[in-house]
Amino acid sequence: MPAIGIDLGTTYSCVGVWQQGKVEIIANDQGNRTTPSYVAFTDTERLIGDAAKNQVAMNPSNTVFDAKRLIGRRFDDPKVQADAKHWPFRVVDEAGKPKIQVEFRGETKRFNPEEISSMVLTKMKETAEAYLGQKVRDAVVTVPAYFNDSQRQATKDAGAIAGLNVLRIINEPTAAALAYGLDKNLKGERNVLIFDLGGGTFDVSILSIDEGSLFEVRATAGDTHLGGEDFDSRLVDHFAAEFERKYRKNLRKNPRAVRRLRTAAERAKRTLSSSTEASVEIDALFEGIDFYTKVSRARFEELCADLFRGTLAPVEKALADAKMDKGAIHDIVLVGGSTRIPKIQSLLQNFFCGKQLNLSINPDEAVAYGAAVQAAILSGEGDTCSKLQDVLLVDVAPLSLGIETAGGVMTNIIERNARIPCKQTQTFTTYADNQPGVSVQVFEGERAMTKDNNLLGRFELSGIAPAPRGLPKIEVTFDLDANGILHVTAKDTASGRSSDVRITNDKGRLSREEIDRMLAEADRYREQDREQRERVAARNELEGYVFTVKQALQEHAERLPQEDREAVATICEETVRWLDNNSLAEKDEYRDKLEALQKRCSAVMAKLHQGAGNAAPGAQDCGAQFRQAGGNHSGPTVEEVD
Ligand code: AMP
Repeated sequence: MPAIGIDLGTTYSCVGVWQQGKVEIIANDQGNRTTPSYVAFTDTERLIGDAAKNQVAMNPSNTVFDAKRLIGRRFDDPKVQADAKHWPFRVVDEAGKPKIQVEFRGETKRFNPEEISSMVLTKMKETAEAYLGQKVRDAVVTVPAYFNDSQRQATKDAGAIAGLNVLRIINEPTAAALAYGLDKNLKGERNVLIFDLGGGTFDVSILSIDEGSLFEVRATAGDTHLGGEDFDSRLVDHFAAEFERKYRKNLRKNPRAVRRLRTAAERAKRTLSSSTEASVEIDALFEGIDFYTKVSRARFEELCADLFRGTLAPVEKALADAKMDKGAIHDIVLVGGSTRIPKIQSLLQNFFCGKQLNLSINPDEAVAYGAAVQAAILSGEGDTCSKLQDVLLVDVAPLSLGIETAGGVMTNIIERNARIPCKQTQTFTTYADNQPGVSVQVFEGERAMTKDNNLLGRFELSGIAPAPRGLPKIEVTFDLDANGILHVTAKDTASGRSSDVRITNDKGRLSREEIDRMLAEADRYREQDREQRERVAARNELEGYVFTVKQALQEHAERLPQEDREAVATICEETVRWLDNNSLAEKDEYRDKLEALQKRCSAVMAKLHQGAGNAAPGAQDCGAQFRQAGGNHSGPTVEEVD
């Protein structure tokens, strides 16, 4: 069973698989090689990917995107609060966790960000299954290098809810470097800077690639909150202000208008990467007013100037962390759709004193490409390929990890940028005489005081034998696995007794039971989706049959006696009326109707066919039209006619 690589992006996702010595990036059912990370809920169904994004203007409050900006965060996180203001869907607080609230099938429903991401992952899994013609279970999923422990855990949980066995969580820039390294067949040791500016996140990583086989991440930096969507927002603000100036109307409170404006802004932005001017034409944007305007590349660059320039700070930080100067970088690789923006490219090129940027790998697909390579290595699929045999991926910890010691001081146990997997033990002791227990609080972050860092969890170690302060020895072990996920244990050695403690669940992480419940729910939704598809297919089949009969009747009316003609026409009209009044009927109702109709029309249709001899081309046309009208559901009638 092949293992797949999934780039779970903020705005778009992409899936690849290693096959016959190379990576295949898999197109979805719409023929697109990337799929919007969108899930929509309607009165009747759930839509994922292109289908969800395409209806967003009609259904803005129930179309969810950007789940990656919520995953693994708490509701009171300032970034969540800031984002929630811009989203047309509702985010509510449930026991400290952000939940997404939508109307689905006439009910109010709340979803965890992990569940929304799992729906996108399910879509990617199904895309791969349709292409491979077999079930898929194992996957490598990528995350921004800056994702902390809880964001990684939550992404892994999303995979579990999607029914995937997540072999490994890897950093997006590392995956891109893997794609680049394999592509180039690099010789000697090279320092590669990966500049990844996607829809919602920005990552800079510096990696060393040795003989094209050892990939070591030397430093990572970035902004979990910068990307193409921020540029879209600037354009939306610009257009909304222009609209207000021209028409004295504020459209910002109208989600549908804002959404339509955003779609047009994104399109204009893409155009500005290849042209110096883009036009926007939106009919009846707000209160019936058509909005036609133009924007120049120079204006766009001015609107985003601070954001564009801001991308250089993480580049400097990564260089400083890797203790390298600009001249030490051999290759600069661009990843993420937003790196197509000419101004971003020129700023970066100027920063590196005019050095040529590498544009050889597709910026939208590089991450999934690398994830697919890693999936092949981990599943053993790549064993037979000499290219992959020596590839070893070494990632680093994105943030320092430590515990709080007396006075609220952060004492690091694992330093930032330490190679992973890794395991470190430090010995601590008590603060007071005869202290019976200690409270161990685990933090991540770079600040000196724990109050400025991020609390991952806390636990108590009790049962320490009475002893003067400073005598007991408590060994705290941090075990950071290959996914960058932390396991902490503590042991009291002084008393001769030892107890291991697992880190408790302080971050609102999903429990095993919750994941199991969501897995069962995901199955239920999948089943509902299937039922909905079958319902629509049954309706199409019935509509198609009526249509075929009506066409045949029109074209060959002379072959039937008047009486039959009228009877069949009446039945057809009745059925059309019934269809109009019963758009939400059940699958079986449509089937029963079809059966009844076929029974009543079969004799007449046989007569029409019998006489059809030399009229065959007409009959075939009819079938072809049916296929167009009814989508890809070919009913029995079509087979008969063909
Ligand atoms: P990614 O998450 O890497 O797929 O990047 C998606 C982001 O890239 C979205 O914000 C897109 O609007 C943006 N993008 C894609 N193509 C272009 C382009 N030609 N010019 C500017 N931005 C683009």
